[in-house]
Amino acid sequence: MTASATLRTDTNAMTVDVEDWFQVQGFAGTISRGTWDGLERRVEANTDRILGMFADAGISATFFTLGWVAERHPALVKRIVAAGHELASHGYWHRLAHEQTPADFAEDVGSARKLLEDIGGVSVVGYRAPTFSINTRNPWAFDVLTEQGYRYSSSIYPVRHDLYGVPGAPRFPYRPNGVLLEIPMTTVRAAGRNFPCAGGGYFRLLPYVVYRAALQRFNRRERTAGIFYTHPWEIDAGQPRVAAAPRMAKFRHYLNLSLMPARLTRLLRDFAWNRVDHVFAEALAGRDP
Ligand SMILES: [Zn+2]
Repeated sequence: MTASATLRTDTNAMTVDVEDWFQVQGFAGTISRGTWDGLERRVEANTDRILGMFADAGISATFFTLGWVAERHPALVKRIVAAGHELASHGYWHRLAHEQTPADFAEDVGSARKLLEDIGGVSVVGYRAPTFSINTRNPWAFDVLTEQGYRYSSSIYPVRHDLYGVPGAPRFPYRPNGVLLEIPMTTVRAAGRNFPCAGGGYFRLLPYVVYRAALQRFNRRERTAGIFYTHPWEIDAGQPRVAAAPRMAKFRHYLNLSLMPARLTRLLRDFAWNRVDHVFAEALAGRDP
């Protein structure tokens, strides 16, 4: 019996990109990597809070964890694994994949995978690029991920956006290099366009019921699982404010943080959720979903 045989028809994949408030791309021009170690780390407490919410809801999820975070919070990594969640990789330094050379990217994703496996004591096969930074400029990234031992990526967002997105990319799992499985972020089709339906900032921007209706429509029309993502800092209304960051970055980062815990709780209740490697087990195994 495959894992998916027991899933509800509205089962979707729940994912968390485990990074701290100062590591997001919108603040990259304001907070340099060299200063990270001097900043207040809130990722462990926030991720523990998410682990508690998932435990209360009785769900399993996938945690795309930054190597930088894992190295400093190994006990957190072990708790993620002990709770039955999937440990996956968000790279080491949260550098955009398309701004790296293939050799630098290999070092970043390879070192993160080894670190996570050593700490977690489990196999790590999933990867999500920071800010969905695999696109038409760097298709070689899929070959590098394959060489570094990854079996799937969830890094393509088939939408039009100023920071990321490949509007014409496939909307459902596919093998861009014939080997690695890419599981694109969920989109809904309307008026000939793809609209984002995978969480992130849009989940905080739109009323909850709008998001819920969109994901329900996706599950019903496409008869397949969607994928949702959030971050530990999104439930942390008390995090330090980065006053010097660009106005748009601050808007996106701080919008409706205080509403998130209740919204996330509703979302966990309104759908069935599971880890990426279980929800997409058949596609990962090479069979048609
Ligand atoms: Zn990230």
